[in-house]
Amino acid sequence: MRTTVGIIGAGPAGLLLARLLRRAGVDCVVLEARGRAYVERRQRAALLEQGAVDVLRACGAADRLDREGVRHEGFELRHRDRRHRFGVAARTGGRANTLYPQTELVKDLIALATADGTPLLFDAPVTAVEGLDGDRPVLRYTHGGREETLECSYVAGCDGSFGTARRTLLATGAARLHERVYPYAWLGVFADAPPASDELILSGHERGFALHSMRSPEVSRLYLQVPAGTTPEDWPDDRMWDELDTRLAVPGHPLHRGPVTDKAVIPLRGQVVEPMRYGRLLLAGDAAHLVPPTGAKGLNLAVADVVTLARGLSHRRRTGSTALLDRYSELCLRRVWQVQEFSHAMTVLLHAAPDADAYERRLRTARLDRLLGPTAAAAEFAENYAGLPMDAPLI
Ligand SMILES: Cc1cc2nc3c(=O)[nH]c(=O)nc-3n(C[C@H](O)[C@H](O)[C@H](O)COP(=O)(O)OP(=O)(O)OC[C@H]3O[C@@H](n4cnc5c(N)ncnc54)[C@H](O)[C@@H]3O)c2cc1C
Repeated sequence: MRTTVGIIGAGPAGLLLARLLRRAGVDCVVLEARGRAYVERRQRAALLEQGAVDVLRACGAADRLDREGVRHEGFELRHRDRRHRFGVAARTGGRANTLYPQTELVKDLIALATADGTPLLFDAPVTAVEGLDGDRPVLRYTHGGREETLECSYVAGCDGSFGTARRTLLATGAARLHERVYPYAWLGVFADAPPASDELILSGHERGFALHSMRSPEVSRLYLQVPAGTTPEDWPDDRMWDELDTRLAVPGHPLHRGPVTDKAVIPLRGQVVEPMRYGRLLLAGDAAHLVPPTGAKGLNLAVADVVTLARGLSHRRRTGSTALLDRYSELCLRRVWQVQEFSHAMTVLLHAAPDADAYERRLRTARLDRLLGPTAAAAEFAENYAGLPMDAPLI
């Protein structure tokens, strides 16, 4: 098989890239290791920045998002035993986030790819990327029990942090991995319980971070800071709910408890592969970087990457010039490091460091106090939380 862009991975990055390229008239083929049902059910992100929503609208992928997504103009911050509302839209000229689960976005993008005839192969794991130094790299993959090859002009590595693309790029020795591993993790829980608030509730409690989010009027999504190395079994339901109440509830406003349907421990780390390109292999999304989930930025960064990548590939198709593509890594990394910095600062602000002394704990409280006033710190936080401006797609 031959194509212009071989895309590895049908997560949000690969699927959105395929959509943007299709609209720009650039051929592509998407190869996904897992089956469609698995990919559509994988629970992850939910909060889309204004810029990501605008991109999805521009490429005709936001019909259901516009009907079912819930705009969040701020959140509640539980601090000093009270809940304080933090207005985001009010501080950003109306920019806000939208709650729309990643599962639904992935379903929408797969449905669009299927409808417009974009070649999208499930159960087709890429095993090797070859010929990166030449101008026709080759993807080796298996499908239906057979070894196959896909020859392309460019390879978009959108296969996440454990994928073949990142491994291949790092093995060239031309890129390095920057990493920060945090000494704590999140216990993430789905519960069949009505959310206790219409907006997210974040807590930087002295016992640790907690977050109350939602997936629907009947399903709550809850996160609790736990020590790194913890297992879900260390957190029986009663212990978990009691701790969530301690960190999130306020008198008269308890959390609603209900049957727990999923419980998992999520490690917290930041990673950046730099540069994000070698020859004709370009990484996008989690393949290129991870952020600690505190700022809800991973999916949004993936959107920003693929807009830049699609602009470069579309520019090349229209003009024959690789000028934009040649700057892909440089352009993406500026944003990537801004978002790493914000996600790191938000993580440190809201989590209890295991080795913090009383002095450092007071400093953390002082920083949280500063966010609650009409301060420059609050304005900067709101700008980053709503998301830095994104380029419009070239379609
Ligand atoms: C608990 C949690 C909460 C989060 N909350 C948010 C949030 O609120 N907002 C936000 O913006 N982000 C959030 N994120 C991050 C977000 O989910 C990820 O950044 C996003 O999924 C990245 O998309 P991606 O397409 O780059 O990678 P992925 O979603 O990982 O997709 C990669 C795809 O590649 C496939 N693949 C892997 N190897 C191969 C191979 N060899 N061949 C072919 N295919 C392969 C995989 O099966 C997968 O389908 C959260 C993450 C977690 C874990």
